[in-house]
Amino acid sequence: MTQAMTHALTVHQMRAEHCFAYLIVDPDAREAVLVDPRADRVPQYLADLEERGLRLRAVIETHTHADHLSGAAELRARTGADVLLSAHATSEVATGRLQDGDRLPVGRHEVRVLASPGHTDDSISLVLDDALLTGDALLIGGAGRTDFQNGSPAALYETLHRRFAALPDGLTVYPGHDYAGRTHSTLGQERQTNALLRLTDEDRFVSALSASRQPKPANMDAIVAANTRGLRPSPRIMPEELAAALGGAPAPLVVDVRLPAEYDAVHLEPSLSLPLAELPGRRDELPRDRELVLVCRTGSRARLAADALPGFPTRVLEGGLVAWQEAGLPVVEGKAHMSLERQVRIAAGALASVGGVLAVAVSPWFGLVPALVGAGLVYAGVTDRCGMAMMLGALPYNRRRAPSAGAAPAGAATCAAPVTDPAAGSCAAPIDPSAR
Ligand code: FE
Repeated sequence: MTQAMTHALTVHQMRAEHCFAYLIVDPDAREAVLVDPRADRVPQYLADLEERGLRLRAVIETHTHADHLSGAAELRARTGADVLLSAHATSEVATGRLQDGDRLPVGRHEVRVLASPGHTDDSISLVLDDALLTGDALLIGGAGRTDFQNGSPAALYETLHRRFAALPDGLTVYPGHDYAGRTHSTLGQERQTNALLRLTDEDRFVSALSASRQPKPANMDAIVAANTRGLRPSPRIMPEELAAALGGAPAPLVVDVRLPAEYDAVHLEPSLSLPLAELPGRRDELPRDRELVLVCRTGSRARLAADALPGFPTRVLEGGLVAWQEAGLPVVEGKAHMSLERQVRIAAGALASVGGVLAVAVSPWFGLVPALVGAGLVYAGVTDRCGMAMMLGALPYNRRRAPSAGAAPAGAATCAAPVTDPAAGSCAAPIDPSAR
């Protein structure tokens, strides 16, 4: 946790993976507001508030999150704090709405609301005396992507180049995410180095953001639905407690809701693999008279699963399989499923090599094989449609362990397997390096 002083309000930054939550505190009045809390960190937030002797006045969401589960509903239920979102947000959790220019009291001070649409239409920023909490409207060296949740490149241009224009260079920028280990910046620094703030031509700005195609955050639709409706708080079970319970009678049924390929790579035993996307159609396979412990990588998908199983006696493994392994508890490790992309590379390379050898040794006509493979790869690169991947995907090996229809790809969201590009499947907009 890092700490920075405003003139009177204090901003405490709390990182969880690529996400930041913020506690804005008036230390004299012992009052705080919590910005963008995550569902899996609620116990820590409550412990932190208690330790500091603070009353939580309100939870503020800078926008409806698509990449992680919000802790707002649980915090409202447990503390009675208001939950405040933009007037443009669709939310059953909000107890109050924020408009551009609103001044929200925190103790004896105020935080100013600055509507910041673009990443989503319900995005807001919070202006303090010397700090700017930007949500995903402005990230360090970038900005939130604009290709879902009523996002708009033109609206983001308006926000970054007109709505932020009157703000001073000296404001410390606290973003909603960072995918490169950074914590904060200043508006002046961003104006000098951030490609999107340097891109003053509106048409080029809009086309730079419109051209990109990225995977959506993992399980995005289910996460947005849960955040909009208000995630039901899930009882938790700690790894050591589960290990003890599995040795007792009756033992809980462990249901692993990750993708089959993730389950194959590593899982705890005994457990049942039932991917999150298949849960709605298969919930009748689960007993209602036996405790279910829901497991995923770090806990977010398991929370979504618990939310999708009303009436079942569920608990969520706190910290997921990561925490289980960190506690030194046993797992079964298997062979990770080879990605389709890797299979395509191997198949294309093998075909090209064999074709080349046969062209030399048998007949020049075999030279057509590498030529056709090369042309196919170019076509796949240009159109993003790969015939070889489709054929390989239909093989029994891939059908058995391929993600089910509707299952989210592994991505950068909280419970997903890591990906090569840390920002893929994230909330950050990809930036064309030529856009300067
Ligand atoms: Fe976002």
